[in-house]
Formats: sequence, structure tokens, C-alpha cells
Amino acid sequence: MKRSWTTISLIVGLAGLLVLLGGLQHGWLSQINASENEKAHKRAQEQADRFAMDFNREIQNAYFNFQIDAETWRNKDWSAFNERFDFWKEKTAYPGLISEFYFFEAKPETAPLVFDRGSRSFITTDLTPPLEAIREFSFDEKIFKPVEENSLSLILPIYDAERKLENIIIRRTATEKMPPIPVPPKFGFLVIKLDPAIIKDELLRDLIAKYYPDDEFRVSITDKQNGVIFQTPLGGERDATAPLLDLSPENFIFYGNKDLMKSVEGEKRQAVVLNSRVESLTLDHTAGNDENGTVKIEIKKDLSPRTSVFTATGKTSARGESPWTLGIQHSSGSLDAFMASTLRRNLAIGFGILFLLAAAIAAIIISAQRAKMLARRQIEFVSSVSHEFRTPLAVIYSAGENLADGVAKEDQQVSRYGDLIKGEGKKLSSMVEQILEFAGANAGRRRFNFSVTSVNEVVDNAMDECRPLINEKNMAVVINIPTSLPLISVDKAALSQAIQNLVVNSIKYSDGGGWLRVSAENGGGKVKISVEDHGIGISKSDLSRIFEPFYRANEVVDAQIHGNGLGLSLVKQIAEAHGGRVFASSQVGKGSTFTIELPQN
Ligand code: ADP
Repeated sequence: MKRSWTTISLIVGLAGLLVLLGGLQHGWLSQINASENEKAHKRAQEQADRFAMDFNREIQNAYFNFQIDAETWRNKDWSAFNERFDFWKEKTAYPGLISEFYFFEAKPETAPLVFDRGSRSFITTDLTPPLEAIREFSFDEKIFKPVEENSLSLILPIYDAERKLENIIIRRTATEKMPPIPVPPKFGFLVIKLDPAIIKDELLRDLIAKYYPDDEFRVSITDKQNGVIFQTPLGGERDATAPLLDLSPENFIFYGNKDLMKSVEGEKRQAVVLNSRVESLTLDHTAGNDENGTVKIEIKKDLSPRTSVFTATGKTSARGESPWTLGIQHSSGSLDAFMASTLRRNLAIGFGILFLLAAAIAAIIISAQRAKMLARRQIEFVSSVSHEFRTPLAVIYSAGENLADGVAKEDQQVSRYGDLIKGEGKKLSSMVEQILEFAGANAGRRRFNFSVTSVNEVVDNAMDECRPLINEKNMAVVINIPTSLPLISVDKAALSQAIQNLVVNSIKYSDGGGWLRVSAENGGGKVKISVEDHGIGISKSDLSRIFEPFYRANEVVDAQIHGNGLGLSLVKQIAEAHGGRVFASSQVGKGSTFTIELPQN
């Protein structure tokens, strides 16, 4: 009792520990997953930002490179322009990025100019409807932006400044109302028309190969109306977005002139040197004088020796306001979905391992219990076998003693003692035989010799063997074997042994019933041999276990009916070796029926 409590509390304790571990694992994995999810989103955003930065830098370089003062345009001296164009072509990885240059003078009546690559000069051209649309867009102060999306053109205002100035843009937070910007009059607009094919087929493809070489993320580029510019549209939430074609002040910081940066010292280091041209003001102007803008740009002209100062405010470019938007989405639908599936997988693996652990513990406990039970049964077996041996040995001993002492002198007496010794010796040897058979079968040493025979022959043989016991106990035996039964292929000796075991049990557990029947029938390709008695019967709980080796019902042990618990397990082994089975039905106090079912020959 004490032991079973220890086992139960051990099992409960282990189960509790497993549940606790499961709970901890769930909590821990969820926590890790949440922080991984956050990191993954951050990484995706950073990568999208870097992608956009590279893209925008290419566009911005094309834009700022062509800031040429009004004098050039007024004097039609194209050498400065050509010098800049050559410089840009030399530096850029995409010389085909710019397809055309147009120039509109601020006076509406002058004809537009187009850059002629052959003569390396601007020549007048017709004001075609697309050009007119660009011109209108450029001249409209209200809607002006540095990018005209429809024609994919960059529009660079040329200010009519008197002298070249060096500008520095410093980011500041708005604190007070800024004075209006003294914007110089515009001399005209340079239109830098970009080639969409080069952007899509070269620039974007290169950047995708650089930032998204594997298929982990899907990339798409959309315009403001969510129209697809590049690649398949992404359904659902995008994991990260970044502005493209962005020429807002916010982004200028990224491509400041590094050489000039070095020359700026101390606190001025925060300053980002854009260019040495007053044209930078276009940006302030495009952003408008919006007092609510979060970025204020102070433009200092020529830090030393002159210190004239321009101040302007500009709006940060809110995401989605840029002409194009880069959208990134994880290939499994979204990063959240991916992380959720990762969590599910990790939890499944974790719980799987815990389940395995639980199963292993359960298996260990069960096999330990089995081992304990077997050990107990074997001890019981040894004591019951010794007990079984004791009676015949005592009979043999005393019969032998009487013979030696000359107690039995008459021939009749001597022959009775002889029969007694023979009978007890036979009992002993059959017991030893049974034990050896069991041991041999368990060690897989038992060999069966199959031959075709009739059920009658085997049953007759078994009954002959049991005859002395039947006579001794005065049993009424009914044999009911139809002659029409088909032949069977069996090991005759083994099957006879099995039937004997059943018959002997019927006699042993007859409880004075004095009746047994051996019958046989066939059907469904099977032959069934049954041994039925009107004995003590077997309880339901015992019935499921009597075929286990060494198992004996408590009642028979208490009633001191001799036995070793091996007989039925041998019957089971024999039946199974013949491709059949054995089963029993019984009612306590009424009797039992044991049936060996064998396949027909
Ligand atoms: P043994 O007879 O040596 O105990 P068995 O393996 O032949 O071993 O039988 C196992 C147990 O099954 C018996 O101890 C007994 O409790 C029960 N049993 C077997 N045959 C009968 C029967 N005909 N009637 C009642 N109980 C039986």
C-alpha cells in the first residue's frame, strides 16, 4: 500500500512537472517570438529604408547635378551644362537614366528648348501637348513639386540669382514663426526626363537583387493611387514601406556633400552641405511656407565671409506622400503570419518533446510495474512448484522406504507400491516437462512438426493420456466430435498436450461437478475444439488474465488447489504457433468452456 502511494505521488509529481514545463515553455517561446517579431519588423523597415535611400540617391544625384545658374541659360553657353552632364555620366552607374532634357524659360511666349545630344546644345522645339502639360505643372506655384509623376520628369527651377552662393541646410525644430522666404525670381525650369525602362529594368532590378536576393520578401512599387508600377501587387498588409522618388528636404541629409562636410567644424558639423547653388531654395519653396511643417530649413549663404541668411520651413515627407512607395511583404503573407507559424512550429516541437518525455516516463513506470509483478509471480511459481513436487516425492519416498524395510512382502503389495511410485514419478516428470516446455517456448527453442491429421485422433490421444486421472476422479466424460470434420495440419503431440491441459484443468477445478465434455465443430475456415466443465468457474477479472504465465486466480490459491499457472499459457503458445487462438467463457459457480480455434487444413 505504502509503495503504491509512493508510485502514485511520483506519477502525479512528474505529471505536474511536465505541465509546469509546458506552461513555462509556452510563455517563454511566446515572449521570444514577440521580441523576434518586433526585431524582424524593424529589420524589414531598415532594409526597405536602405533600398529607398539607394534609389532616391540615384534620382537625387541626377537632379542636383544639373543645378546651373541662370547666366548659363541667359548666355546660351552650354559648356557648363555639358561639363555637368559629362561628370554625371561618368559617375552614375545608369547613364541611360536620363532620356531627355528640356528647358522652359519663365516667359510663357518663348519656345521650349530640348537638349540635342549630337550638337551638345539646347535647341528650340515644338510645344507638344505632353511638354505643355509639364510646363503648366512647372509654372503653377501651387502644385509645384520637383517630380512630375505622369511624365516621370524632375523639374529643377533655375533662380535668377545675382551671384553664386554656398548654401548649407540645417535641420531645426519649429519654435517660432519664421519670416517669409525671400525667394529670388525664377529664370526658368530645367526638365530632366527619366527613362522608366532603365528605372524598372536596371535600377530597381539591381536594388532588388542587392537587398532581396532570396524569395523571403516580395517587393512591389506603387504610385499614389496604389497603381502598380513594378512587380505583382501585394495583397494584405505590407510589412514595410518606404518613399521612392523622394526629393523632400528630409531626404537631403542622406546625400550631403561629404567632402564639404569635413570642412565644416564644431557645431556646424550637424549642417548638411547640399551644394554650392542657390537653387537649393527650390526645395524650400516646394515644401511651401507651411508653419505647421515639422522641418525648418535655414539656409545660410556663404558661411564666411558673407553671412546673408535664408530661412525657410519645409514639410517632412510623410510616408505615402512621395510619388512612389516601395512595399515589402514577407513571402508567407506577412511577417506576423510568418512569426505566428514559427511560434506554432516551435511550440509543436517543444510539446512534442515533452509528450515524448511523458510517454517515456509512462513506459518506464509501466515496465517497472510489470517487472515487479513478474518477479512476484516467479517467486510464487517457485514456491508452488516446490509445493507440487513435495507430495509425489513424499509418496515415492515412503513407498520406497516401505519396500526397503520389507514392510511389503506380498507380490500384490509390492506391485501396488510399484504402481504408486510409477504414477507419482509420471506426475513429477510431466510437471518437469511442462516447465521445460514453457522455458523452451519462451526462449524460442520449441520446434513444431506439422502433419495432417483428424481432430478425432488428437482428441483420442489426449483422452487416453488423461484416462487414469479421469478414472481416479470418477469423471463423466462426453466426447462429441463429428466425423465430418475436415482434416487439420498440426503438431499432434503439441495439440494433444494443449487439450490435456484443458481436460486436466476441468478435472482439477471441477469442484465435485464430475462432468466434462470435449466437442469440436467447424465453420468459416476454422476448426474449434472445446473443453467444457461444470466446475468452479472463473471471475470476469481473472478471465482476462488466466492466459498470462504464472497467473492463478486467488480462489484456487486460497483453496490450495495445486498448480503452477503455466498450463493455459502453454495452450495459448501452442494455439498461436498453429495460426489459431484460445479463448474462454465462464460463469462463477456454473462452469467454464475453453476453446482452441485452428485454421482448417
Ligand atoms: P494452473 O492450473 O496450474 O494453476 P493454468 O495456467 O492451467 O495453471 O490455469 C491458470 C488459472 O486459470 C488457474 O489457476 C485457475 O485459476 C484458472 N482456471 C483454468 N482452468 C480452469 C477451469 N476449468 N475452471 C476454473 N478455473 C480455471
